Amino acid sequence: MANKLHLITYGCQMNEYDSERVAGLLRERDYELTADAHEADVILLNTCAIREKAEDKVYSKLGELKQLKAARPHLVIGVMGCMAQLQQGEVRRRAPSVDLVFGSPAIARVGELVERARRERRPVLETAEAPLVKLTAKPAGADRLKAFVTVMEGCEKHCTFCVVPRTRGRERSHTPAAIVAEIEGLVAEGCREVTLLGQTVNAYGRDLTPPTDLAALFERVNDVEGLARIRFTTSNPYNLTPRLIRAMREVPKVCEWFHLPLQSGSDRVLARMNRGYTAARYLELIDELTEAVPGIALSTDLIVGFPGETDEDFELTVEVVERVRYDNVFAFRYSRRPGTAAADMEDQVPDEIKAERNARILEVAGRVGAERSRALEGRVLPILVDGRARKDPGEMTGRTRCNRVVNFDAHGRDLLGLVVPVLVTRALPHSLRGELAGAGAEARVLAATG
Ligand code: SAM
Repeated sequence: MANKLHLITYGCQMNEYDSERVAGLLRERDYELTADAHEADVILLNTCAIREKAEDKVYSKLGELKQLKAARPHLVIGVMGCMAQLQQGEVRRRAPSVDLVFGSPAIARVGELVERARRERRPVLETAEAPLVKLTAKPAGADRLKAFVTVMEGCEKHCTFCVVPRTRGRERSHTPAAIVAEIEGLVAEGCREVTLLGQTVNAYGRDLTPPTDLAALFERVNDVEGLARIRFTTSNPYNLTPRLIRAMREVPKVCEWFHLPLQSGSDRVLARMNRGYTAARYLELIDELTEAVPGIALSTDLIVGFPGETDEDFELTVEVVERVRYDNVFAFRYSRRPGTAAADMEDQVPDEIKAERNARILEVAGRVGAERSRALEGRVLPILVDGRARKDPGEMTGRTRCNRVVNFDAHGRDLLGLVVPVLVTRALPHSLRGELAGAGAEARVLAATG
């Protein structure tokens, strides 16, 4: 009988990608996934260290699992990913029932590590650097239509608030050939959309010999037959080049959607964050993007309550949100991360002020985002259909190229995986409502989107 693996993933898309690979690698060793922790032989927590709250969730889950382990002593509990890399000692101290701790560089060896933990019955720790390996093993039953593809690992930015350079190591790009081969494999299984992932994905390729870049990778991926859409995240304004902006306009499968973290609209705060750009430079880039790619949807990350952030600094961030008119804003309260430069800065902002600023920015972003949604009413847009609507399984759901969810009545037709024209009839708070547009429009949209 197969061994059972229960896998819990916290954090970013890169962690989701890593978890799929871990499940795929363990499947090759006869482990099948189970949604029920009670029947698992191995439980792995893929962790995030970006904010304190993410870590608290892991410790509270480990507390729950302690009881399971007491009832089933043969159970192996493992902690992997960013928190494991950063705090191996702390994890072992606070959660002695953990048998296995390993960081992202060791993922390729997960099979061997799990077997060792099961065999030796003593804690196994593996958090050293390791060579870059492109992992492509994927579990059966993973989402067929859309996939994440990590194109580079690590981060060499030194933002003063961030732990990522310490958890994911140096920047290392996978070769275009390895990435294209992975995407071809995914498309052969029915995938129609890929999101290329990297911590600073627009710095892709500069470490390769010969060096290359994301624009060149777009061209290669665009040539994969059967693939309909390309997305990418996360970009850093510092590395955003005119060449990439041109590629966004010219490479047909690259969607009109761009996630460009601003973090703050105040130059004083940006300098203390060590972001390497000013608000004016950021806005210049936004103007270049919106000029080159009409209708582009923009989203961003913001940190509120960074040490020393005054009301005036915060108002400058609000101004940028109003000016850019983002489709979507991810706002985070600054979280003090041990070992980062900002953790030791004076003038830490009290929690109540962070909460107030967070609520305010979400309110402004919600209003702006709703206006952007309403502007789509009455338009016919190509929708990549990716499933049944959550609230009404009689309806189908999909996304626009600018990444908006649209639910519509498919009149009993199974349109899964197809790109179809949908007339947007109503903008709701978190999605759009639409109806299938006529056959003429369908032909036009299919011709335009491939
Ligand atoms: N590498 C990307 C960049 O620098 O633009 C994003 C990486 S991070 C996984 C996602 C977001 O988490 C960041 O853009 C930032 O807004 C937020 N973040 C990172 N460190 C944080 C901290 N200490 N407190 C609050 N938010 C944080």
